[in-house]
Amino acid sequence: MKFEKYATEFVQEIGSKQGAISPPITQSAAFAYGDSATGEGIFDGSVQKPLYSRMGNPTTAKLEGMLARMDGGIGAVCTSSGMGAVALSCMSIVSAGDEIISIGGLFGGTYALFDETLSRFGVNTTFFDVDELEAIEAAITPQTKIVYLESVGNPNMRLPDIRAIADIATCHGVALIIDNTVTPMSLRPLELGADICVYSTTKIISGNAAVLGGAAVFRAINMESEDKFRTDRYADIHKFIDKMGAMALIPNAKKRALRDFGMSTTAFSSYLTLLGMETLPLRMQRVIDSVEKVAIGLADAGFNINHPCLPEHPHHQRYKDDFSAGCGSLLTIDMGSREQAFSLLDNSKLVFITANLGDSRTLALHMGSTIYSDFTDEQREFLGITPGLIRVSIGLENPEDVIADFIRARD
Ligand SMILES: *Cc1c(COP(=O)(O)O)cnc(C)c1O
Repeated sequence: MKFEKYATEFVQEIGSKQGAISPPITQSAAFAYGDSATGEGIFDGSVQKPLYSRMGNPTTAKLEGMLARMDGGIGAVCTSSGMGAVALSCMSIVSAGDEIISIGGLFGGTYALFDETLSRFGVNTTFFDVDELEAIEAAITPQTKIVYLESVGNPNMRLPDIRAIADIATCHGVALIIDNTVTPMSLRPLELGADICVYSTTKIISGNAAVLGGAAVFRAINMESEDKFRTDRYADIHKFIDKMGAMALIPNAKKRALRDFGMSTTAFSSYLTLLGMETLPLRMQRVIDSVEKVAIGLADAGFNINHPCLPEHPHHQRYKDDFSAGCGSLLTIDMGSREQAFSLLDNSKLVFITANLGDSRTLALHMGSTIYSDFTDEQREFLGITPGLIRVSIGLENPEDVIADFIRARD
């Protein structure tokens, strides 16, 4: 198995060896400080105790610690949803007049956040395909605060050269945020040069449609040598660096996003996510094995399949070199027309028709009529949304059953 290290770490860390093995759910909005001096210390950060559940909760802190270790970060902040994590990571860095460079993907909600919502606040985003490296570099200006990347194109299945993009961001001193929702553990974005890694934990991390959640994992600020966050470009963050040193990105995110926008999660959500994490390494292994089998099986049966394990995929070599532990649960099927796509989905006995992904069950959705229904033709073309496109997220079923079901549903 590719994720042995995590299999041991996760179950050992979640269970307590004394008392309750299952993590306690600290269901309280507020916490008593005991005395005034402790209250003062909690507010100035010198005392590590819970302040108020919008700013952090003990059950959530356990999950944050695990996610930080999973990605080799100095800390993490969990949020009420994946979009909460995308918003937190971006809103805690940008101001009016700043620019974002967005590469690949892109998840519909993130596209709308950048294109519609942040632009209303004076933050402009330009969008690029993963292979437009020269154009990406040329687009960086003194106002660029974020290079934003999805580790696997959803739903276009294009794979970025993450190191090359990280080199460009580092060379120009711009923060790199990577959304690694689709493929946790098999890629470790912070080690590849990302500054912040974001997740929708709603997907494969919790894994069973029980709970909405998100997380941003942060790297340490380098206090000894140069660091992009200590340059003039990120002057807004310097007050947190002066106070909290290497940890600075965490209070920056907590104060500028959790405190002021309130995308905080709940203890019960964090508890359910922790239960999901116990089996994440096993489920991830099953799914990356199955998705290849299904992609190959359906391609052999004459389906038009998009997955980088197939030799004709433009990023097949990158898949073998840089994504050797897989790229998550997704593949897409192009049925040629909306009618054929609806017919396949409606004839399937096995798939669950829904917008989610990374579930224990195989999920599928027609893209053009749902997530991307109010996008313009140009936006759809850029995102690879063809009229017959179905996104499939492979679950834990026997992959042979999934292949047989799609063939039966078509014929
Ligand atoms: C689902 C998803 C999100 C948003 O997550 P929610 O938990 O639904 O808010 C963000 N990015 C990617 C890649 C996703 O798949």
